[in-house]
Parts: sequence; C-alpha cells; structure tokens
Amino acid sequence: MTRYAVIGDPISHSKSPLIHSLFAEQTGEKVEYEKIRVTESELADFVRDFFAAGGGGLNVTLPHKEIAFALAEHASDRARLAKAANTLWVGENQILSADNTDGAGLVRDLKHNLGVTIQDRSVLVIGAGGSARGILPSIIGEKPEKITILNRTQSRAQQIQLEYSSLFPLDTGPLDISPAIGFDIVINATSSSIAGELPPLQPAIISAGCSCYDLMYSDHPTPFMQWAVNHGAELVVDGLGMLVEQAAESFLIWRGVRPDTQCVIAALR
Ligand code: NDP
Repeated sequence: MTRYAVIGDPISHSKSPLIHSLFAEQTGEKVEYEKIRVTESELADFVRDFFAAGGGGLNVTLPHKEIAFALAEHASDRARLAKAANTLWVGENQILSADNTDGAGLVRDLKHNLGVTIQDRSVLVIGAGGSARGILPSIIGEKPEKITILNRTQSRAQQIQLEYSSLFPLDTGPLDISPAIGFDIVINATSSSIAGELPPLQPAIISAGCSCYDLMYSDHPTPFMQWAVNHGAELVVDGLGMLVEQAAESFLIWRGVRPDTQCVIAALR
C-alpha cells in the first residue's frame, strides 16, 4: 500500500478519502488515503517527513494551497499561474513537484459531465480568491470569447487581470454590474455560500440558456444556486463534480490511471 493524504485546517469535512478509496477500489490500485489536520506552522515539516517516509502524494486544501506551491521545487504551468497547488508528489530526481488540478476538474465537469461548451462563450467568474486563480488557466485554455471577473475587493480582480494580461484580456468589475447582455456561463468562485450569503448580483448577468456553477458543494442548493434558479438559469449545479474530477486528475498524476468519475459522482450524490 502506498500512503496518500489530504491536508488542510480544518479537514474533518473532507470527502477526499471517500473519493480516493472509491477510485482505488475501482482501479485495483494499492492506495491508502487519509485526511490529516495540519496547521500552517506544521506544514513544511509535515510535507518533508511525509515524503521522506515513502508517502506517494498529498492533496492540499484550504488554507495551505499557496504555501504548498511555494514549498515545491517544480510546478506545472497552471500551478505557477494560480500561485497555488493542490497536488504534491516527489517526481524525477527526487524533486518535490506541484500541480493545481482544480481548473482541469471544473472544465472536465462542465464539458464531459454537464455538456457545457466553454469555447467562444462569455464566462463570468465571481470571486478573485485562490479558487478563481486556480480555475482561470483551464478556462482560458478552452478559448472562451471573453472572461469577466467580479469581486467584492476590486483590487484583487485587477491584480489577476494584470498577471494574466499577456495570456488573456480579462475584464473586471464590481459585484453588482448590470450588463446589457448576460453571460453564457456564470461561476461562483466566492466563499459566500459557506456563510449562507449571496453576493449582490444583478439578474442581468444571466442570459437565456445560461449555465450557473457554484464551486461550493452541499447537500442543499446554495444561496447562489437558488438565486440562479429564480432568475431563469437553464443549468444550475454545485461543485461536487469538480471535487471528484480534480481528485481524478491527482490520481492520474500519482498512479498513471484515470478512474471513472461518473459512478463516483453518482455514489456521492
Ligand atoms: P478564498 O478565501 O481564497 O477567496 C474567497 C473569495 O470569496 C474572495 O474573492 C472573497 O472576496 C469572496 N467572498 C467571500 N465572502 C463573500 C461575500 N459574502 N460576498 C462576496 N464575496 C465574498 O476562497 P477560495 O477561492 O479558495 O474558495 C472559494 C469557494 O470555492 C469555497 O466555497 C470553496 O469551498 C470552493 N472550492 C471548491 C472546490 C471544488 O472542488 N468544488 C475546490 C476549491 C474551492 P474578497 O476578495 O473581497 O475578500
């Protein structure tokens, strides 16, 4: 058995051990996966000791993704753009390597599971935190027509706009913009749903046929999902599919096998 874990603080809520145990069962890979609470001050030592003891890989969740990226000696392009990592492993020449699979997970859920095309569509990302940074490289890779980022603290959206300026011309604005034409895809990448809150969004952001995606997942529709349904969005979903898909990307990096995700998403639902 090779040992894997997800680390974060808090971590008790994590569904990753269940997801990876279903992947291991399905693929026959000899994987043991647990969740471990690791505080910020413990992180660097924990990562070093985990891999020194033969650990196969780590998933990293809130609030450690930026520090995990900084600890790595090699990072994928998408992790470098995001400045955050959710997947660590020891690669060639014993180098601590990092990737960020959040964006690939979101795009795969949208395209493969939900049938949503991103190419040539207008995309609105609400939020400019770690997950917004993590998903942008993969969204840009799908060649959308345009991407707009709205955030409560506008300077954070403007900072992302600046960092991505050579890659894609991002628009930014406040949360309550009321555009003449709505967006094809609206992604809530804020943490507002965790607190049961809804950003001050205007119904005009929703086009006819709009797909609305809340990165947060929950047993019940989130406030953003309820709002999107009430304002006529055609497709409204939470981030459970993304959670499973980003886990599958990590599993592929570590084990070289892509598990089937549809049955795992169905089992979790
Ligand atoms: P961060 O803390 O990095 O960023 C939080 C963002 O939310 C900021 O843009 C912040 O705005 C904004 N925000 C917080 N509260 C409010 C509010 N009440 N109204 C408006 N804006 C608000 O968090 P993450 O980006 O890491 O996570 C965001 C969400 O994504 C979480 O719900 C998380 O669970 C989910 N997630 C889901 C994943 C999945 O696999 N499904 C993977 C990763 C994340 P400001 O800058 O002004 O503070």
